[in-house]
Parts: sequence; C-alpha cells; structure tokens
Amino acid sequence: MSLKLTKKSFSNSFDKLKEIYTIYAPKRSPKQGRFCDTDIIKYDVINSSDEIVFNEKSNYAAKEVLSPITETLFYFTDNEYRAKKIAKKPILMFVRACDINAIKRFDDIYLKNGGFVDSFYAGIRENISFALMECPSKGWDTCFCASMKSNIVNDDEYIFGIQLGEEIKVDIKDPSLTEIFDGSQITYHVPVVEENLISVKIPMISNKDVQAKVKDLDLWKEYDKRCIKCGSCTIACSTCTCYTSYDMSYTPDSNAGERRRINASCHIDGYTDMAGGHSFRPSAGERLRFKTMHKIHDHAKRFGGEHMCVGCGRCSDHCPAFISFSTLVNKLSVEVDKLNEEDING
Ligand code: SF4
Ligand code: SF4
Repeated sequence: MSLKLTKKSFSNSFDKLKEIYTIYAPKRSPKQGRFCDTDIIKYDVINSSDEIVFNEKSNYAAKEVLSPITETLFYFTDNEYRAKKIAKKPILMFVRACDINAIKRFDDIYLKNGGFVDSFYAGIRENISFALMECPSKGWDTCFCASMKSNIVNDDEYIFGIQLGEEIKVDIKDPSLTEIFDGSQITYHVPVVEENLISVKIPMISNKDVQAKVKDLDLWKEYDKRCIKCGSCTIACSTCTCYTSYDMSYTPDSNAGERRRINASCHIDGYTDMAGGHSFRPSAGERLRFKTMHKIHDHAKRFGGEHMCVGCGRCSDHCPAFISFSTLVNKLSVEVDKLNEEDING
C-alpha cells in the first residue's frame, strides 16, 4: 500500500516508529565538515523527522551504525571478561539502495567468511530493518551504482520506501506498519536509478596469466606520487570492512581494561607490516591496486556474488588528491582489454 502524507502526518508516524525502533538516518552536524564553515552529514540517532537529511548524499556511509570507527567489544579484568551489551530495541535505518547492498557485502565478510560468524556484528545486524530512501533520478555526481548493480533492492529487503522531498510518499512493504502511517492512497514505488552521470566498465580478467600481468601494470605507478596514503577513501567507503584491535588498560598498573575494534585502512603505513619489518605493499600504487582489485574482482570471486564496490562514490568525494575511483576502474578496463587481447594472440 502506498500513501501520500502531509509533513505533520509523517511527523506523527515518525514518533510512533520511534516507540518501536531506535532510528538512524543521515543527520547534519553543522560546521563539522572538512573545510571551514562546512557541515558534515553522517549517520546518527534521529529523534525528529526534521533531522533526516534527504536531499543530499551523506558524507559517510551507513556502515557506521554497524561498524563505528571505534567500538568496545568487551571489558576484562585479570581472569574474566564481559562482552558489551547489545541493545535489544530494534533499529530502523533510513538508507539508499546502495547502502542496503553495501551492508549485504558486510554480511559476506562478518557472517559468511570461512565459516566464522562475528557475534558482535551478528548481534546488532539481526536487529536492523531498513527504510529505503529515494535517490535523485541519476544519483549524485560521483555515483555509479547502476554500473555496480547496487541500484536495485528486493521488496523484502526494506519495510517501507520513502520520498521525503517536497512531497512525502511512502510505499509500505511490512503490513504491520499500515497502522503507523496515515495519508491518502496513491500509486508509489521507490524508483530505481537506471543510469548515473558516470558509468563504469568492470574489467573482465580472462585468466590467471592476465591477472598476474595486471599486478605489474604501469597504471598503478601513476598513483605512487598522487596518493598520499591518508586512508580517507577507505574510512568513507560503504564497503571497507578492515579493522584492527587493541587492548586498553584503564591504569598503567592494572590488567583491567577493554578491547576495542578500530577501522583500519589498506592505504595506511603499517597495514601490511610483519614481524621483522617486512611490508608487503610499501608504495601507494601497490596499495591502490590491492584495494581496487578487492573491490571489483576478488570479493565477487570469493563469495560468488556481486562485486564489493557498490558505486557510492564516497572514495572519490573524500580523496584530497582528487583520485576518482570510477576513472581508475575505467582506465584499468582499457588495460585489461589489451592484456586479454595479447593473451589470445599469443
Ligand atoms: S570503493 Fe568507492 S565507490 Fe566503491 S563502495 Fe567504496 S567508497 Fe563506494
Ligand atoms: S583518499 Fe586518495 S590520497 Fe587518501 S589514501 Fe585514498 S586514494 Fe590515497
């Protein structure tokens, strides 16, 4: 059932939803942006429907609800520990189609990777429902979700869809919510972004020989100087899941403390360092190659599904060196086509 709501009516519905769920949505933090006098939009708990930022892309991804930059996993003393309490109240997240697909990539890593289930992630994940927010007809300027097929979500993956612009329209998927919303009946379904301003061609690596040659492409060397190894792209990325952990003692002379999980980045010094001082990928180009291949080749190969990258464009939005990930992937595609051809022609 689809309804058109007034602002007042949606506000009332929101208050009813708030009784059932803790609600997360993109929220504006004024003057907290990266540059003077700029705001930042990131996921946070929302207490009023007016706080939801609908008309702009959030600077940071929805993943922060499930994987905050830093989180405590458990508390310990000398010989015992206690896991952190996971809130029992269900969570409702206002997200875009790419966000739902990005969290499915997170599920691959945290729930389906080598038979290991991350209980901390699973505890919060099973409590989450999604409200699907409509995007502009072509997304935003750096989006390429249509190329990554993350523009589509199944009807059973969200409990209602919503347009929250000049008009407020909801498409209720979960029948238990019909009591929550009050409006006039219309025909509405969150439209799919069929095409973005940018399109990306994913390289089709024909065999292992070609894959080995990709590693040595001169293309990567271009980024040795451009990329400053800051890691901004991975922190903002909808699908980067890497983390490290450390134990923090409360006082220098006790064994009481907590274990924290902290986002890590494959772009940053130290990520591949080993005992003895060896580092696997010292140059910026090698690190960018590793991330790129992970996003548009390795993940899909391992899990047999879609590529890890969902085309949200946040890596490009955040890069201080103006490295465009979509441009990089398109350049790689051209090089891989040449390698495939050379391979066929011997
Ligand atoms: S690699 Fe870039 S475009 Fe792809 S999911 Fe991560 S931030 Fe988004
Ligand atoms: S944001 Fe740009 S400069 Fe920083 S690590 Fe990523 S690609 Fe390199």
